[in-house]
Formats: sequence, C-alpha cells, structure tokens
Amino acid sequence: MRYLVLSDIHANLAAFEAVLRDVKHRHVGYDAIWFLGDLVGYGPEPNECVEQMRALAPAVSLAGNHDWAVLGKIDVAAFHDLAADVVNWTREVLTAENRAYLQDRPTQATVDDFLLVHASPREPVWEYVLDPATALANFAVMGTPYALVGHSHLPLLFVTNPAQPKERPRAFLVSPNTSIFLRSGLQYILNPGSVGQPRDQDPRAAYAVLDTEARTWTLYRTEYPVQHTQAKMRALGFAEPLIVRLQLGR
Ligand code: ZN
Repeated sequence: MRYLVLSDIHANLAAFEAVLRDVKHRHVGYDAIWFLGDLVGYGPEPNECVEQMRALAPAVSLAGNHDWAVLGKIDVAAFHDLAADVVNWTREVLTAENRAYLQDRPTQATVDDFLLVHASPREPVWEYVLDPATALANFAVMGTPYALVGHSHLPLLFVTNPAQPKERPRAFLVSPNTSIFLRSGLQYILNPGSVGQPRDQDPRAAYAVLDTEARTWTLYRTEYPVQHTQAKMRALGFAEPLIVRLQLGR
C-alpha cells in the first residue's frame, strides 16, 4: 500500500491544494490518505480545509492540539497569545458540520506496524519529538516498529536499534525527493513536516509518501502561493508575526 501522509494543514487552503496538485503532477500515486491532525488553527480558511479533507475521505484523520483547542478540549491559555486569538476566531466561524467532523477525530490509530499520532506516542496530542532523548522515551512505549507523528512542523526522522537499547537514537532532517529505506529490525519515528506552516526555514508545503511494500518513506516539498494565504490573513486582521512566518518557513 502507498499512503499519502499529511500533517499540520492549519487552515491554509492554498498550501493544501498545492500539495494535492503536486501529488498528481508527480504521478506518485497513493491508495489512501493518513492525516496526522491540526487541520485548523493559525490559518484563515478553517471551513474550506475541513471540507476539503472531508471530501478526500482519508483512511485515518486524527485530532491535533489546535483542533482540540477550537473544540474547547484544551484551554487556550496553554497557547501562545497570537495562536490563541486564531483559535478563538476559528471557534466563531466554524460551521456546526465542520465542528462535528473535528469532534469525531481520534487521537491515535494503529495500522499494521504503524502507530499514528499527532504529537508523540506517549502524549498523542501534546509532546514535541525534537531530540534523541524524547525519541528514546517514546520508542520504549510505542509498541510498534514505526510511529508517524506531526506537531513539530519539521520533517524529522528518528531511528533506533531496539537490540542496542543503550545507544542514542539518531535524528535526521529529511531532504525532499529522497527515499529513506525503512530497515527491518529498527524502530522509526517519522514526521512528514507541515503542509500549512513549515518551520524548517523552507516555506514550501511538505508531505510524505509511505510505501509499505517497498518499505520507503519519501518526503516532498512544493511551492504554493504564500501571498494568497497572507492576504486573507491580513484582511481578517490576523497578527503580523503569524503572517510573516509563512514566507520565512519558521
Ligand atoms: Zn501544528
């Protein structure tokens, strides 16, 4: 099976549509979509993005921390002020149907050897996996060879050998258009990066394709009309730092 793996769309429709177009143009092909959460928050088009996702009917579609904040399942006090403002705005504009869609999202899913969560295996909605020590703690509890995570908005890969528990996991920032071969016997935590708000200094939308037969993980990047999303944010009066970060990719 080939899975299109998306995460952290964050109400950025231009980025979301660009990814769907890029997948078509590259003829990479996929059998199903796995979405790792944070469909809304930060961006100006929450309803449009939820509707696009509903139309795609992904095999897995998880809840992220921003989705939960909009639903009131997380207190916005836990968020940065600028992010909290957009959470509150999203709550006001979201239609009842789209809210119901977010409400129904699970926090994790397991498909064969893959555990899917928004944030981390031990804290599915909250923890950032950014360093080998955090990855190590998560490798110990995940119970599967592979975990797919989003949340950090960075296309990171952590790999460890469970037969060598004292060794530190290795961490890589995955380059676009490079297929990583997933070796059997090792454990991986894989992040497809963010569609709608990349944070690795590369403003291009990120996504990944997982091929479970070839055992490959391939990251892709695609440009999208950032200024399109930014103009909508400005028209809505969103805070300037949230607007500028999209063109900087951080
Ligand atoms: Zn996010």
